[in-house]
Amino acid sequence: MSTSPPTVISSNWLELSSCLNRAENGKRKLLTIFGTRPEVIKLAPVIRELSAFQHGLQIVNITSAQHTDLLYPFVELFGIDIAYDLQTMEPGQTPNQVCARVLSALDPILSFEEPDLIVVQGDTTTALAGALAGFHRRIPIAHVEAGLRSGCAHSPFPEEMNRRLITSLASFHFAATERNRETLLSEGVDPSTVFVTGNPVVDSLKTILSEQTAGDSVRQLLQLTGGLKRIILTTHRRESFGEAMEANLRVLRRFVEEHEDTALILPVHPNPVVACSAREILSDHARIHLIEPLGYADFIALLSCAWLIVSDSGGVQEEAPTLGKPLLILRENTERAEAIESGIARLVGESSTRLRLMLDEAYEEGSWADQVKTVRNPFGGGDSGERIAQIIATLLNVPSRLSLALD
Ligand code: UDP
Repeated sequence: MSTSPPTVISSNWLELSSCLNRAENGKRKLLTIFGTRPEVIKLAPVIRELSAFQHGLQIVNITSAQHTDLLYPFVELFGIDIAYDLQTMEPGQTPNQVCARVLSALDPILSFEEPDLIVVQGDTTTALAGALAGFHRRIPIAHVEAGLRSGCAHSPFPEEMNRRLITSLASFHFAATERNRETLLSEGVDPSTVFVTGNPVVDSLKTILSEQTAGDSVRQLLQLTGGLKRIILTTHRRESFGEAMEANLRVLRRFVEEHEDTALILPVHPNPVVACSAREILSDHARIHLIEPLGYADFIALLSCAWLIVSDSGGVQEEAPTLGKPLLILRENTERAEAIESGIARLVGESSTRLRLMLDEAYEEGSWADQVKTVRNPFGGGDSGERIAQIIATLLNVPSRLSLALD
């Protein structure tokens, strides 16, 4: 069997590769660690594409179950086999508690499994703990969705700091965009360890759009709101909890009350703070629909039928350009400036007064919101999982099937 590297990716590829080349016999072993809905959505295409290298690569998927109810429907949807569920979720726990529980649960697993590489995604406390646990055991870390920065250490909290720390801990950085790569380089990250691959969320979105349709309840909701301008709202960010979130919800309610041709649909995040504010402010209006969190196919179907999306979610900022749907970003800053530059999104900023102004502006005849159409997606073309898997296989010296066949 040939173990020669298929392609030279970077100038010091061999140097990087040799530090991973510990297991001389048998398969290389790769661990993924994830805990939340967006991590599953974004790692699923990577895991799927890595499975094409199963002849030389063993994949061990670990979940912290930082999200519980939200997580498993997505794990099932994407057919991910979980080897370990750390079951770290406790109601109301702090980021420190999540971090401590994931670290201590992971350590014996890392000791037993002795992986060659750990893959983490994004900016959750699970991702940070996974990277730190690997670092403590001298296992190289690959970070998917590297190089995002809001520029404010406390917002989003704790995600912005999680990202920065993961960058320091990681050996390999999969940047979605050229801007993300530049950010990493400006922080002194070795350029030969940074790979621009797009974001695998685009792969997942395209797969779901082509393979799945909405279920009955979403189809009924779309019928009920047919002919109305649908505003699809998601909000769950910790830094908006309390007055900021409540003021925005009141503005949205008033806007819908004042415009009979609009409807508001909110899949309510299970976080009790969000659920409580949403019920208190948005209940009891015929054109406002508070619904359970949706499966991915249902949610994408809903977004596809939006007049306007209003959201503080990170993933939604990457999905809106694919769907060609206008988005108001319900945050003070964004680490995804590409969404704004593409013309698909606008940043609301810090006050609910600005939200009202931006809703009014979007509602005007022929406004920007009516004009945006599908744009070239700055976050990739849907082949990100394949690109990341190929680079990982190269780094781990796992030959392609083709080179095996030629041997
Ligand atoms: N999402 C979903 N169902 C919902 C709400 C969101 O499938 O009811 C998806 C959405 O398409 C996006 C992801 O969940 O890909 C975003 O997750 P979340 O907002 O929890 O996290 P963030 O992206 O802000 O990290």
